[in-house]
Parts: sequence; structure tokens; C-alpha cells
Amino acid sequence: MKIIDGHCHLASTRYIPAGFFEDVAANITRKMTAYGERISLEKILQMLIMQHNDHNGDKLIAEMDSASINSTVLLIPDFSSAMLMPLPQTEINKAHYHVTKKHPGRFYVFPGVNPMRGKAALDEFIEAIENYGFHGLKLYPPCGYSPSDKCLYPFYEYCRDKSLPVLLHTGPTVQSLNLTLMPPSLICSAARDFPEVNFILAHGAVAYVEEAIELARNWRNIYIDTGGISGAIIPGKWQEQLLSVLLSGIEDKIIFGSDWPVTRMSGGLKHLVEGITSDNAIIEQISPAALNAFFSGNIIRLIERG
Ligand SMILES: [Zn+2]
Repeated sequence: MKIIDGHCHLASTRYIPAGFFEDVAANITRKMTAYGERISLEKILQMLIMQHNDHNGDKLIAEMDSASINSTVLLIPDFSSAMLMPLPQTEINKAHYHVTKKHPGRFYVFPGVNPMRGKAALDEFIEAIENYGFHGLKLYPPCGYSPSDKCLYPFYEYCRDKSLPVLLHTGPTVQSLNLTLMPPSLICSAARDFPEVNFILAHGAVAYVEEAIELARNWRNIYIDTGGISGAIIPGKWQEQLLSVLLSGIEDKIIFGSDWPVTRMSGGLKHLVEGITSDNAIIEQISPAALNAFFSGNIIRLIERG
């Protein structure tokens, strides 16, 4: 069975802001304290930074191989409207291009933008698509904009013309960002105005699940992914959650995604893939055709339109 991970990031301090690591460390510390574990924020932060040294994707490739993942969509979030980025987005895009060249056939890339920078950001995005052959657009609305904000329409026009999918973060994130911008339904105006653009609600199987499923079921151009599912649900319960989403009538709309490197905290990619393929309830109730669509068919269909 072909497996494509539709939601992944390079674990690198070169592409993710220091401020984001600090906020993530605070989130993890709070969660662990709630589970009764005693660990300092500094220790968690140090561990996170040490783990984010995979600048050219070699470690991710080894992790993908151990999980039998054929290829992976690398998402590049642009946090620059809310945090200081370690490098300009153009440099980060170029570095991802080199990663795709180093590992041919293994990666698709969705570059991020800060749409509030207007034409300069649009030009950089177009350059990344045209020069590097990238495959979609990644948005992080809690950085300060609604995914239906008119500042994004020129990006959507370009994505429509080039048949590129748009993936947007939905659901909780770090508390220093604007959490009023996380609900999936914020996409509805743009999804109505751009019926030919396919929008993927990242984490739709994990956060605001009912709302996300409802949108995927009723809107022809809205999809959801499973990014972060193995870590976000109470340990041992995530397969049940995944099964209920797979049974919700959106077979052609749900995309397998890990959200690596976040997945590392909950056992890594092999643990995630085997947790699905060896789960009796999933295997018995989900047809092989639906599993194939989930693991690769749906994301391939979106990417290969472009
Ligand atoms: Zn992610």
C-alpha cells in the first residue's frame, strides 16, 4: 500500500522561530504538569531545540523509511507576522528546494506566506512555485489573519489558475498567537468565492472535529487531515477517534498526515502507521479502497491537478 504523509515539517531550528519553540515548551510543560509529571520548562525547551537539527531532511527520510512512508508533504509555516523568523522566507524556500533535490521523489512542498505583506509575498510565493516546482500553499491564520481575508484573494486566484491546493492550520496552537482565528468555518467565504480551489483543514480530525467533518462532507472543495492525531487525544484512544472520522462519510475527503516532528513525542511515524494498519477495528470496518484513498489517493488527486 502506498503511503503519503500529507502533513509534515522539517525538524529544524533554521525554519521555525525560537519564539514558537518557547511557546510549545510552555504548552508541553503545562500538559505534563496536568498529568502529574514534574519537569522544568527549560529542560523541555533544551530537548526541543536539540531534536530540531534535521536541516536537510536526512533524519526524516530514515524515519519515513522505517514507517514505509513513500513520500511526504513538507509544510513551511510563515510566522513572520507574529514572530521573528530565523531566516527570510525566500531562504527557507530555497533550503527546502535543496532538500527535495537531495532526496528525489520523496518530498512535495507547500511554502507558507505572510499575506499581510501583499504583493511582495505573492511574488515570492509565485517564484517558489515556478522556480522550485512546489505543490501548494500553506497558511497559518492564527498569525493574524482570517483565511477568508481579502488579502489572500490574489493568492487564491493564483492557486485556482495553477490548480494548487491550499492547506490551512485550524485548531489550537501556542497561546501567544491569535486563537480567535483557529475555527475551520472561517474558510467558508473563501471556499464559496473560490469553488475551484481545494482547501485542506489541517488537524480537522483532531480539533473542531464535528465542524470540520461537516464542512468536508458538505463542501465539494474542503478536505481535512489527521495531523497530530496520535499525540492530541488521550493516549490509547486515538485509533478510536480516527475510526469514527473514517466512518463519517468523508472517504474521499480525509488525508493521512502525521504532523512530524510533533509526532515524535507520541512514538514517531512507525508507531503511527502501524497503529493504524494493525488496528483490528479499523481493518475490519474500513474497506481497502477507503484506506488507500486515506493513505495516498486523496492527497495525490489534489497535488496532481497542479
Ligand atoms: Zn503542522
